Amino acid sequence: MSKDGFALQMQGVRKVYPMADQEVVALDGIEMDVAEDEIVALVGPSGSGKTTLCTIAGGILTPTDGRVRVGGEDITDYSAKKLTEFRRTRVGFVFQAVNLVPFLTARENLLVVDELGPTGRSRSDARRRADQLLEELGLADRANNLPGQLSGGQKQRVAIGRALMNSPELVMFDEPTSALDSKLGDQVVHLIRDEMKQRGTSAIIVTHDERITHYADRTVHITDGRITDHEYAAAAVG
Ligand code: ADP
Ligand code: MG
Repeated sequence: MSKDGFALQMQGVRKVYPMADQEVVALDGIEMDVAEDEIVALVGPSGSGKTTLCTIAGGILTPTDGRVRVGGEDITDYSAKKLTEFRRTRVGFVFQAVNLVPFLTARENLLVVDELGPTGRSRSDARRRADQLLEELGLADRANNLPGQLSGGQKQRVAIGRALMNSPELVMFDEPTSALDSKLGDQVVHLIRDEMKQRGTSAIIVTHDERITHYADRTVHITDGRITDHEYAAAAVG
């Protein structure tokens, strides 16, 4: 856990993608903190830098300039090897396109996390953790189903379970409800909020979904790679 009360601190973060004919400035001086236990909704037009911000916060990409701290630890200058370890143990990702392994069951898709490297727990502890998460996610009776045998909402819930397997401090959700119908979207929104608040896990949720911004502690607006506005929720919604 963080020593300073912040799950994420970004200071002066710039990201420039070098392209053949011109550079693309995806992030242009981002200053953003996420407190421990805080849920931040990140809102902005297509191409404004939302996905880039999430991938930098989670150590998938490194910034061109600026500093990134997660749980008080500066990851900016981490080697590729250290970043791989960091991603595996400290953060979680749930992407819009749910990328489950098609030939593994729901339970095995969670257990894959433990196959990628040492987690300091036994196979039976991993299995207990996976089954507990599946139960909480309402998937206990789907543990042995393949992704192809699950609905869109169920697959999204498996992806959330996988992101939580290693008890991350910070989870990035990139448009988690955009592919779901409104009823499933509602369920997933509630689930994300409950899971995060129960565990004291921080989250950044990229979304255009009013339901999520309503549930978030704060909504951050981004345009052309710059943060333009912060709105704090008037009151926390249960
Ligand atoms: P958003 O998620 O808000 O739609 P992105 O972070 O995906 O925005 O993209 C921000 C900007 O960076 C866009 O102009 C996009 O075209 C560009 N971009 C994103 N990824 C790459 C990449 N790998 N190479 C070059 N340009 C990219
Ligand atoms: Mg995006």
